[in-house]
Amino acid sequence: MTEQFDFRAQVNRSFDRAAAFTRHHPTLLAQVRECNSVYYMSFPIKRDDGTIEVIEAWRAEHSHHRLPTKGGIRFSMTVNRDEVAALAALMTFKCALVDVPFGGAKGGVRIARHKYSEGELERITRRYTFELKRKNFIGPGCDVPAPDYGTGPREMSWIVDTYLSLSGGELNALACVTGKPVTQGGIRGRLEATGRGVCYGIRECCSIAEDMKRLKLSTGVEGKRLVVQGLGNVGYHAAKFLEEEGAVLVGIAEYEGAVSAPNGLKLEELVAHRKETGTILDFPGATNLPNSSDALELDCDILIPAALENQITTKNASAIKAKIVGEAANGPTTEDADAILRQRGVLILPDIYLNAGGVTVSYFEWLKNLSHVRFGRLQKRYEERAHKGLLDALAKLHGDQPSDHETPEFARGADEIDLVNSGLEETMAVAYREIVDRKTRLGNDIDMRTAAMVNAIDKVAVTYEELGIFP
Ligand code: NAD
Repeated sequence: MTEQFDFRAQVNRSFDRAAAFTRHHPTLLAQVRECNSVYYMSFPIKRDDGTIEVIEAWRAEHSHHRLPTKGGIRFSMTVNRDEVAALAALMTFKCALVDVPFGGAKGGVRIARHKYSEGELERITRRYTFELKRKNFIGPGCDVPAPDYGTGPREMSWIVDTYLSLSGGELNALACVTGKPVTQGGIRGRLEATGRGVCYGIRECCSIAEDMKRLKLSTGVEGKRLVVQGLGNVGYHAAKFLEEEGAVLVGIAEYEGAVSAPNGLKLEELVAHRKETGTILDFPGATNLPNSSDALELDCDILIPAALENQITTKNASAIKAKIVGEAANGPTTEDADAILRQRGVLILPDIYLNAGGVTVSYFEWLKNLSHVRFGRLQKRYEERAHKGLLDALAKLHGDQPSDHETPEFARGADEIDLVNSGLEETMAVAYREIVDRKTRLGNDIDMRTAAMVNAIDKVAVTYEELGIFP
């Protein structure tokens, strides 16, 4: 039987598998599962050569149980109605899982990004924002986009600028989008947040001795052999932070091909090589792999797909050698492939958990924009003084002179980046513990994806019940 990829059906199957473990009314479950609204638009843009092109784009709002809805904007040729609806559904469950009080949404513009100049991309992004605003599909209290595949801070700054020009002095207008550059109302730590969250999630996983024992791995990230697919925002930062934690990067895949080095390769050297030559291939000391996707089958401990959906399928699931698959991308594993991996004892850290760091820090950015104050501004100096007072009192007790020197690192007050990173770390750790607790309650043969999804469904369903719509 050949496997047909239908992203929305895949997400629904994963939902149904988990919903069977809940006691919610079928009508309520149907409401939680379905996508509330999808806005399709097409608009013309002028190319640099003077020709006019019609662009197709979507915005899906999966669930309005909490507002605003939240989710990234993707620029890719894979974008279609079902893809944005599936990704919006994942956003609903992701937000619920990490207690970020948003409904799920996702946007997509169907373009091959590299075929457009910067000016063309700006015109497309601004027009897309205009269309969203026109239909109330963007705004601090209704729907707040963010970066996703093919977009980043630059696109977010075009979005906020367009929104500001249309919103006529709206007080909280900066909160209409997250992932902005820090100079335009962004927050420190957002750019790398998803990759950092991936690292924290993997660290939680590797710290559980019995799971590592079952996988015949030692505890801790140190020394674990890592393969990453996709060296974009998420893949690059996940690889960077895991390398800093002591993981050994044995393979990297990009669209132009893949490289492997069983004894490890240095991420920054590979990035510099790519910058210089335009490709990751022919990196000194590494072997080129004929097909980029061959990297998924490399001998390693942890595999991190961080590119797009539908990468681990029934075609390659049996050949995957990793003992842990960390889904940094959304939907990289099909449901049938998931079953094969589970049956083979592979531990899968599901997307709705592992890549939730991005939306978590987006939530912090949104809060910052609404409060109109940088995190740490009020208490930093106060904390520092209190710590210094304590240190001086301790010094006095020991008969030492209070120090006039600079405040030591451990005694300084928290800056925005410290607070963001600690909030992110706490969020990832708490959500992991909740998933493990759920797994224990449901029986240990339950997988992490099902346990995570049950937690998410429960949280969304309870909100609907509290709203009084469902008995
Ligand atoms: P990105 O555009 O920054 O990077 C994606 C990278 O993957 C690109 O370098 C691209 O060349 C590469 N790639 C594409 N197809 C490939 C293939 N077949 N093999 C190897 N490499 C390939 O995108 P991103 O923001 O890093 O997003 C990656 C994934 O993470 C997506 O699934 C996205 O939905 C998910 N995600 C992103 C965020 C975020 O904050 N950006 C948050 C949560 C989830």
